[in-house]
Amino acid sequence: VEPVTADGAHAPPPPPPPPLPAARETFAFRAEMTQLMSLLVQSLYSDKDVFLRELISNAADAIGKARAAAHADAAAVDGGAPRADDQHEIRLRADPVARTLTVEDTGVGMSRDELIGFLGTVARSGTKEYMRTTADATAAGARAEPLGAERGLIGQFGVGFYAAFLVAQRVALFTRAAGGPLLVWESGAGDTSFTLREPTAAEVRARAGDTCRLADGAIGSAVVLELRAAEAGYADEARLAQLVRMHSAFVDAPIRLWARRR
Ligand code: ADP
Ligand code: MG
Repeated sequence: VEPVTADGAHAPPPPPPPPLPAARETFAFRAEMTQLMSLLVQSLYSDKDVFLRELISNAADAIGKARAAAHADAAAVDGGAPRADDQHEIRLRADPVARTLTVEDTGVGMSRDELIGFLGTVARSGTKEYMRTTADATAAGARAEPLGAERGLIGQFGVGFYAAFLVAQRVALFTRAAGGPLLVWESGAGDTSFTLREPTAAEVRARAGDTCRLADGAIGSAVVLELRAAEAGYADEARLAQLVRMHSAFVDAPIRLWARRR
């Protein structure tokens, strides 16, 4: 006998009851940070040269934030007179003998929490968060500062830094934020972890170069790449000069290049 509804039409047969669910457990996918990163970076960047553009753009972003902070301080003191603030620069130091390349900047540097948050988390961009907070502050009328995008800040995807591993087997980032300690973040290509510690000034000089100003108490960062043997060419002066001209011509800070002669 088929069931019939009130208006006389045939009702569809009731669906079979679902099987009783077994006790259900939910598991989070565990993303292996380094594998995910290298996959992402390799698919984003078929051209290894871009690592330099990414590191220089991070240096330029950090300098942009330092300038904005200086501008805000000046505004608090004398009503916003722009400062002649041309001390900022980006320094590239290449050592073909040690097979290292250092990208140093006079930007804002990073605190311990920022190192962990921005260089230990997949796709988390400190620059994007910075742009959002300055935009919110401006919208709330807190301070008429230019927005991040208007300052020409570039970062937003939170993956550019890892492009360093396209050419480096190990990366050390020495950094100091205002009022903070000198720190070094280190990791190797394919490592599943990174380390953080407070290096000595002597270590900074030995690894980032004699003239690295972080050793003298300056604020900023120096990213030291230990190049893979096959990528030793990135410590070549002429090649670096050409790459900088090609990819970083519009960076809003002077870029100086030193190379140790063989
Ligand atoms: P993005 O630049 O797209 O935000 P990155 O992977 O290049 O992503 O960098 C991640 C974050 O790490 C940046 O947003 C910034 O907060 C921080 N960072 C990277 N390099 C530097 C640097 N040289 N100085 C200060 N902060 C930096
Ligand atoms: Mg970046």
